[in-house]
Amino acid sequence: MSAQTSAYASDALTGETVDVVVIGGGAAGLNGALMLARSRRSVVVVDSGNPRNAPAEAMHGFIVLDGTPPAEILERGREQVRHYGGKVVFGEVTAAEPAEASDDGDLRFTVTLSDDRTITARRVLVATGLRDVLPDVPGLAEHWGHGVVHCPYCHGWEVRDEAIGVLATGPASVHHALLFRQLSDDLVYFTRDSELDENTRERFAARGIRIVDIPVEEVLAADDGSVAGLRLADGSVIARSILAVSTRMQARTDGLDGLKLPMEDLPDDMGRRFVAGPAGTTDVPGVWVAGNATDPAAQVGASGAAGALAAAHINSLLVTADTDAALNRVTTG
Ligand SMILES: Cc1cc2nc3c(=O)[nH]c(=O)nc-3n(C[C@H](O)[C@H](O)[C@H](O)COP(=O)(O)OP(=O)(O)OC[C@H]3O[C@@H](n4cnc5c(N)ncnc54)[C@H](O)[C@@H]3O)c2cc1C
Repeated sequence: MSAQTSAYASDALTGETVDVVVIGGGAAGLNGALMLARSRRSVVVVDSGNPRNAPAEAMHGFIVLDGTPPAEILERGREQVRHYGGKVVFGEVTAAEPAEASDDGDLRFTVTLSDDRTITARRVLVATGLRDVLPDVPGLAEHWGHGVVHCPYCHGWEVRDEAIGVLATGPASVHHALLFRQLSDDLVYFTRDSELDENTRERFAARGIRIVDIPVEEVLAADDGSVAGLRLADGSVIARSILAVSTRMQARTDGLDGLKLPMEDLPDDMGRRFVAGPAGTTDVPGVWVAGNATDPAAQVGASGAAGALAAAHINSLLVTADTDAALNRVTTG
């Protein structure tokens, strides 16, 4: 068993039809599974073990759990789902699609894993999260989640008073800079060929934010592996210990095409998400979406809450379906 799979107890898939399959076992998926298992629903979570905040040393901004390593939160979450009879299996979903309805007309879905295991489920909760696409600057990616950050609420306190550089990636970077200015007086904004109008330049100047219009060539690392600064196109180096970037946030869609879930672009080329309504409902009957896959701004708390809400709605519709089926059996003898 690899180190990664050993982080999951080996829940076996037995081939029976489960009430709900949850695709993705981050905060959204595990909290959804917890609610379902506690409602005595048979639930299987399939998780490929690569949550969005994996590079972070600790999770911040959520009461009680603040400062806890992300892996520890998920390990405890998996244990809690199992405590109520839910299963959490390590695996990559490579296909998910509607299957033939049951004899009583209830929905069915087939989910296939990369090792060819399959699960049949009555309902599906998609909680696959999103992928952060970083700006293409040599030397930047290796610092992601440490010296290169995106979220003032996740690691803002930890980078307070540091020499911060904000690398423009789109129109939203202007406000991003103001958010990081709240955390440090020492801020440099790198325009990277983006337009910055006079009014914004005056507003930045009023807050003491310096502006660099020379293109950025490379992120430089210090001997200890931390960020040392940025090398510019004219050869000069601007020392910075922290870089803030807005990422392009792409919902993780691998293996989900067969569900035909509607998607939409985010404004200002900020990424793409699954479209979902209240409680994570989608236009596809029997399929819900929760967490960053549909709400890219959701942090751990909001993602977990969305998973719980979707699960409650799923259970609510299942109790109705179960009652309809029971009545049908009674009336048809
Ligand atoms: C560097 C960094 C630091 C952060 N720090 C914080 C913080 O301090 N506080 C905070 O509140 N938020 C933080 N966040 C945001 C946080 O990561 C998200 O809010 C949270 O992870 C969203 O939860 P989720 O369940 O929607 O998705 P995820 O946590 O990303 O979980 C999705 C899961 O689905 C799995 N998956 C995807 N596709 C498949 C598939 N086809 N088959 C099987 N499994 C699949 C993935 O492997 C993953 O385990 C941070 C984000 C980043 C990038």
